[in-house]
Amino acid sequence: MAKSCVNHKETPAATMCHQCHSPICKACSLVTPRGTFCSTECGILNRDFKERQREPQDVHFSKMTTVIKLMAAALLIGVGLIGINVAATHGMPQLKRVDFIGRFLDLLKPR
Ligand SMILES: [Zn+2]
Ligand SMILES: [Zn+2]
Repeated sequence: MAKSCVNHKETPAATMCHQCHSPICKACSLVTPRGTFCSTECGILNRDFKERQREPQDVHFSKMTTVIKLMAAALLIGVGLIGINVAATHGMPQLKRVDFIGRFLDLLKPR
């Protein structure tokens, strides 16, 4: 069933407004790179809406990247410390100074 244009009841709608979803005919449709709108107002509304929508996503994304970076850094430090611990306990006593895991394990040892 074809809907009729919101502005011209006699004309079947050719498309739909990208913002308010009103059925519109070819004469009423305002074609922009962002989509087809029934009016300039809807085009502006849509742009504002998109910009508002994008912002939190960007913040969320950068937060995610920070978390990933922190996790990668923690992982690298962890692997490095384990490497030092293994080297310090296996023939490289000069590494004992920086062997934080070894020191930590020494603290945990019952005396
Ligand atoms: Zn509209
Ligand atoms: Zn129309």
